[in-house]
Amino acid sequence: MRDTLDFLLHDWLDAASLLQRARFADHSPETFASVLDTCERIAREKFAPFNRLVDTEEPRFDGEQVHLPQATHAATAAYVESGMLAAAQDYDAGGMQLPCVIEMAANAFFSKASVAMGGYAMLTSGNANLLMAHGTPLQREVFARNEFSGRWFGTMCLSEPQAGSSLSDVATRAVPDGEDFDSEALGPRYRLRGNKMWISAGEHELTENIIHLVLAKIPGPDGKLVPGTRGISLFIVPKRLIDDQGRLTGERNDVALAGLNHKLGYRGTTNTLLNFGEGRFPVRGEAGAIGYRVGRPGEGLRCMFHMMNEARIGVGLGAVMLGFAGYEASLEYARQRPQGRAIGPAGKDPASPPLPIVQHADVKRMLLAQKSYVEGGLALALYCARLVDELHTGEPDAAREAGTLLEMLTPIAKSWPSEWCLEANSLAIQVHGGYGYTRDFMVEQYWRDNRLNMIHEGTHGIQGLDLLGRKVVMDGGAGLKLLASRISQTIERAGHEVGLAEPGNALASALQRLGAATKAAWSTGLPEDALANATPYLQAFGHVVLAWIWLDVALVARRSHSGLEAGKMAAMRYFFAYELPKIEAWLSVVAGRESVCRDMQDDWF
Ligand SMILES: Cc1cc2nc3c(=O)[nH]c(=O)nc-3n(C[C@H](O)[C@H](O)[C@H](O)COP(=O)(O)OP(=O)(O)OC[C@H]3O[C@@H](n4cnc5c(N)ncnc54)[C@H](O)[C@@H]3O)c2cc1C
Repeated sequence: MRDTLDFLLHDWLDAASLLQRARFADHSPETFASVLDTCERIAREKFAPFNRLVDTEEPRFDGEQVHLPQATHAATAAYVESGMLAAAQDYDAGGMQLPCVIEMAANAFFSKASVAMGGYAMLTSGNANLLMAHGTPLQREVFARNEFSGRWFGTMCLSEPQAGSSLSDVATRAVPDGEDFDSEALGPRYRLRGNKMWISAGEHELTENIIHLVLAKIPGPDGKLVPGTRGISLFIVPKRLIDDQGRLTGERNDVALAGLNHKLGYRGTTNTLLNFGEGRFPVRGEAGAIGYRVGRPGEGLRCMFHMMNEARIGVGLGAVMLGFAGYEASLEYARQRPQGRAIGPAGKDPASPPLPIVQHADVKRMLLAQKSYVEGGLALALYCARLVDELHTGEPDAAREAGTLLEMLTPIAKSWPSEWCLEANSLAIQVHGGYGYTRDFMVEQYWRDNRLNMIHEGTHGIQGLDLLGRKVVMDGGAGLKLLASRISQTIERAGHEVGLAEPGNALASALQRLGAATKAAWSTGLPEDALANATPYLQAFGHVVLAWIWLDVALVARRSHSGLEAGKMAAMRYFFAYELPKIEAWLSVVAGRESVCRDMQDDWF
């Protein structure tokens, strides 16, 4: 994987060109490489060997505390020590001012080694990044700084038992805490009451405190909650209360663990139901969790969504890396598993030794499929991370374009690897035959761990609705046009290269078909017509984007004839021959506004 990562970062994305920007001027190709080396080593030594252990020794709650294996404590401590929690932050915030593309590439090693052990740190930097963007200077200093240093870890508390995809139905209430609620240095002080479901890393003893970022509604003067997302605000709710210097006051906040969820995979990250303000730990004699508001009332979801692009690319990259882990494991297995003989005259002699299964065309098909999914997914995630760098440090026009492209590509960067790198994990099990169906090999765990990614951070269905319902129609279709023009540039370049003109033409037809289907889906102007097939649209869109990514990668890979590059060309050929044609089936229901799903009645099932 490292050779592919280096190829994509340097040969394809030209990460070194970022060094000319003032923000990254202190870095060099050597510092980039040393960050990757360090993370690869920590992941290999502290994470990977314990990935099975954290799956079998699930977090355990004894009524007082949650217990995690010692390995999780050691791994998270090593991660904190590496400074990666604040990798992309300014120097004066304790960071390294690393480009997002290098930070994400470095974090990829942890997702591959043990996605569940890596979860605590990923949530913490997401939480602290949000506070850097929306917190007051003191909130940044007290909360974000202590998270970046690893003294405290963080969570994201959005979901509730009755409000998952539909966050507008959040029912947690936040009421001003006393007459002087607005004079608190840490931010306007509220009392929160409600239940938050599925909260990852919601309870543990890895750090002395846990900083929850909680979505809640402030009731109006009539005591009622404002319906919809407009009523949602954001609060910092520490598990243990602190003063404005960041010192623990010794008081426990009124946040109680109601229970742990027992999951299919990702078991090494605790997953919790948290009760806020039920009176289990009264503060100053009163029930209600103390929370400090971040941003203005009613802007909670906007603040959260500010973070979503990076978080969703991160989820996609996590899915890619689980796919990569399975791909490498199944490749290694296929090389040493003897079974069966060649088709044709060479295999006629039953006394001849069996072939390693990697020699069979059908096994190569399964390996090539995995390779095209995971390396394509990695390229897409890194491309998006590179867009984040452009957004933050590029010239104004380039930054604006990067922002628009990111808006378009984020649902794909999140959903495509979640579906297809999960499929890669399924193929990795298949390559192992019966052994893949046992717990003696890791591939089943990779599949279980990866199954989460189509569910959290916006389900697959919600990503489709976002893409077709919002992203492709925003600004009169400006984002779609910009993306189409980028794809067309790649097609144009491919037209001049021997061997690439044909896939270029196939991609041009696919792009044209996608555009026509988009128009047809919206031709009645009725969202219920268009959006009934939002998921097949998402799938087709994703495959077109990945075909583009593969063609663009091939334009670079074809310059060299090493095995690495030859492998990239074969994966590109595979994707165009076996995958891109699938879009026809998906787009035909979209363009025809097929209504069977919409028409189906509950009592016909
Ligand atoms: C292991 C794990 C970790 C998680 N970590 C966190 C966390 O740290 N913080 C946090 O806040 N949340 C977390 N979540 C919650 C996660 O984000 C939600 O599970 C997810 O948003 C879906 O919500 P739900 O489970 O209520 O399902 P629902 O919203 O009930 O969805 C069920 C199904 O209905 C579909 N559906 C729902 N609404 C629509 C619609 N309008 N149109 C079409 N289809 C629809 C969905 O696509 C889905 O297939 C986690 C979940 C899990 C399982």
